[in-house]
Amino acid sequence: MSASDEKELRKLVVETGRELLRDGLVARTWGNVSARVDKDHFLITPSGLSYLQTKEEDLALYQPSDKSYQGPRKPSSEKGIHAAAYEIFEDVNFVIHTHQTFASAQGVWGWDQMDISEEEQKKLGGLCAAEYGLPGTCTLKKAVTAAFATGAHTVLMKHHGAVIAAASKEEAFERAVLLEEICKRNICGFEGELEEAGDDLTEKQVKILDVVKKKYPLAQWTDGEASRRWSLENKVLTAQLDDMAQMIGKTIDTTGVDPEEVLQALSETNSVFVNGLGAVVCGNDEEDTDALKILVEKAATCALHTMNCGVKKKLGAFDCFLMHLIYQKKYSAKKNG
Ligand SMILES: [Zn+2]
Repeated sequence: MSASDEKELRKLVVETGRELLRDGLVARTWGNVSARVDKDHFLITPSGLSYLQTKEEDLALYQPSDKSYQGPRKPSSEKGIHAAAYEIFEDVNFVIHTHQTFASAQGVWGWDQMDISEEEQKKLGGLCAAEYGLPGTCTLKKAVTAAFATGAHTVLMKHHGAVIAAASKEEAFERAVLLEEICKRNICGFEGELEEAGDDLTEKQVKILDVVKKKYPLAQWTDGEASRRWSLENKVLTAQLDDMAQMIGKTIDTTGVDPEEVLQALSETNSVFVNGLGAVVCGNDEEDTDALKILVEKAATCALHTMNCGVKKKLGAFDCFLMHLIYQKKYSAKKNG
């Protein structure tokens, strides 16, 4: 590959990261993108850098044979699952790992009972699920390798997200979008119309946020369909996905509509459902708050889906504790430079 070809490829990887973020297929620094350079190397997005900040020179040129890399930043910790795709499929040149909402929910439960046409299967290059492993571990890499080894190019990573192997960027992106469409129509719990929020409801939300913002100026409502529906259940939501466990922790409570209750909850966590109104989230900065909104909506989608299917699926308490601890450490390390 010539130097100018590699430059083009770098541009393509960086652009794809931003497109994944724009289309809500990833949040914050989750997910990653890679492109094959030659038979021994691929370019991959770096670890822990936001897609908006990532420049072409930040990408790591990774060599799986000896796990070495060139570039100023460490490759993504999920490089192993990308390496698995390039190793197994000779015709694969582009790999994306997403944390897309409906595919993640379907990966928690019911992927093997989905209504999916033969044509859709073909477009996805085959669909399969990989068993759970903690992010960045050999267990996860082995599970994803086993899933790709079945010949499936689109893999749901249980309790985590999806990884898609394709011949080109366009094909990878099309597969991610199609996967989301298929999973969305198969998800339980979104039947029927949701009542529009009336003035009364908005007033309540404004009143609560006015009080909360005095102490937590970055606090915001997230009141998408999923979080509003879940908040009506008045239950504790237990983490079913890795990214919630990392950024929020093991559970999200539901409080009553008294602003003091919401304030009390936010003194211990960054996200809380408020009965019938959605959820209030508060990150360390605006980007953080935006990511929390996506995570809370996704967690609510998963919770509604499994509840309506009558199954209980949750991550282990110790795994949640560990992931949350590591995430907080990583975050504060970055804040301190
Ligand atoms: Zn991931």
